[in-house]
Amino acid sequence: PPPAEKYEYQAEVSRLMDLIVNSLYSNKDVFLRELISNASDALDKLRFLAVTQPDLLKDSVDLDIRIQTDKDNGIITLADSGIGMTRQELVDCLGTIAQSGTAKFLKALKDSKDSGADSNLIGQFGVGFYSAFLVAERVEVSTKSPNSDKQYVWESEANSSSYTIREETDPTKLIPRGTRLTLYLKHDDKGFAHPERVEKLVKNYSQFVSFPIYTWQEKGYTKEVEVDEEPTDANKDEQNEIAEKKKKTKTVVERYWDWELTNETQPIWLRNPKEVTKEDYNEFYKKTFNDYLEPLASSHFTTEGEVEFRSILYVPSMTASGNDDMINPKTKNIRLFVKRVFISDDFDGELFPRYLSFIKGVVDSNDLPLNVSREILQESRIVRIMKKRLVRKAFDMILGISMSEDREDYMNFWRNFGKHMKLGCIEDRENHKRIAPLLRFFSSQSEEDVISLDEYVENMKADQKDIYFIAADSVTSARNTPFLEKLVEKDIEVLFLVDPIDEVAIQNLKSYKDKNFVDISKEDLDLGDKDEDRDKEMKQEFGGTCDWIKKQLGERVASVQVSNRLRTSPCVLAAGKFGWSANMERLMKAQNV
Ligand code: ADP
Ligand code: MG
Repeated sequence: PPPAEKYEYQAEVSRLMDLIVNSLYSNKDVFLRELISNASDALDKLRFLAVTQPDLLKDSVDLDIRIQTDKDNGIITLADSGIGMTRQELVDCLGTIAQSGTAKFLKALKDSKDSGADSNLIGQFGVGFYSAFLVAERVEVSTKSPNSDKQYVWESEANSSSYTIREETDPTKLIPRGTRLTLYLKHDDKGFAHPERVEKLVKNYSQFVSFPIYTWQEKGYTKEVEVDEEPTDANKDEQNEIAEKKKKTKTVVERYWDWELTNETQPIWLRNPKEVTKEDYNEFYKKTFNDYLEPLASSHFTTEGEVEFRSILYVPSMTASGNDDMINPKTKNIRLFVKRVFISDDFDGELFPRYLSFIKGVVDSNDLPLNVSREILQESRIVRIMKKRLVRKAFDMILGISMSEDREDYMNFWRNFGKHMKLGCIEDRENHKRIAPLLRFFSSQSEEDVISLDEYVENMKADQKDIYFIAADSVTSARNTPFLEKLVEKDIEVLFLVDPIDEVAIQNLKSYKDKNFVDISKEDLDLGDKDEDRDKEMKQEFGGTCDWIKKQLGERVASVQVSNRLRTSPCVLAAGKFGWSANMERLMKAQNV
């Protein structure tokens, strides 16, 4: 056979290899994801071509990926029955950087070096094939394209500026089609050649690749073998006769190696929702997000049109660390897949706004590039549209819980995520219409159970135009405020805003169903019951008293007025029309503003 030919790497490849080998240790795991994703691409290409050229499949119909490990020698082989590469393709694909994703990676890496940022970029960019050198000191690629009669072997070492290509001559290594990668692992990385380790990585990163991935695993089955030895004391009765028989056989475990399907080729989100049970969804949730509690709700949907993606979203039944944790946008709650390849679960507001960061789920897009980076995510129009749709679906789901027959479901949600909804009032004007019906408050007519704004509106008096509220630090102090006296007398319901964030949230909402929120502690409260004559009379009678009180209090009050808003209390401190409410003032003081 002709000798192996030696080729020099394109300068950029050398540089990339150098970087990978010498500076990117942090995320070695990704090598397997990258190689599996290449195998999956190669299978996709073949499957696509075979649509018009069914002959391509004639030598081998199976489209799959097989990973074998040799832990004693530290070797991993990864074989696919995909499109393979011709000699020229080996040179073009594995000797140069054609692909923009990798080029971008190089640039980003350079920028990050300059700014001293972390070199964790490898996880975000597809550095592709060369990531094999994260763990391998030598890589062999034996490949057969349907467009070539011959099978070729590409070979290179880490830290080398060149590679070789030769014809495959070992008859035991000939394959009908596809590519077989052999990774000879570096001394310190031989641990990757453990079957369990590979299995775990496959499950973690590539569980939902649409071609079957088999790993070579040791298995065992038990079998009964006869044992020659005679029972020591032969007995007479029946009981012992059975025991005697048992003693003659022994259970042994027979060990052998075989291929084991390691991924689920049909991810649950690709299945028809009609065929997936609630138990399936809950199981998937618990497995994926390591939660022992069932989610409160789930939603499985596909969007079409401008942007296509599939998703399953969940509302968990508890916040990550109890109710009072900070609302944290940096969660690992959304797992993004591109064409079923796991891309990232490391988001910071790109797919859900901060106040909805508790939503968990998977999103699978066909429109994003496989090597999508944070930068791409932040700038992408596709992602913006996705975000909008995801948020809408999340609200549908929450609304669903609020309409559940079991009231306790929503109370559970509200206890855990009520704060998030209120934060939404402040941070997401665009979705006020969706958030407002989800809010709950205590009221003068419902001190034990919170009510919704809809319930409030239904309970409004015929001539009542506004929604009344009073902010206080507890239900008790709200109930005892003199402002309430007249409204209680008139049987008008007043919302009690007792959570510090409530008042700001309501101020941001401004109105609900065209009814303004009105603070009953403000000076200009108008209940539509003005009696001009009586007012004049009162002002005449008590004008002097007011002036006297104002003189005594001086700068401490803006004014002292006769008012008809009280019933039993002699006087009340009201907030100015444009000023802070007493509650706000207290909050500001507490925060030292
Ligand atoms: P990318 O996958 O983003 O194109 P990679 O560095 O991962 O970049 O791979 C470079 C190229 O090498 C691929 O585009 C493909 O043409 C070729 N290639 C890699 N692995 C395989 C494979 N298993 N079968 C066929 N072609 C492959
Ligand atoms: Mg790739």
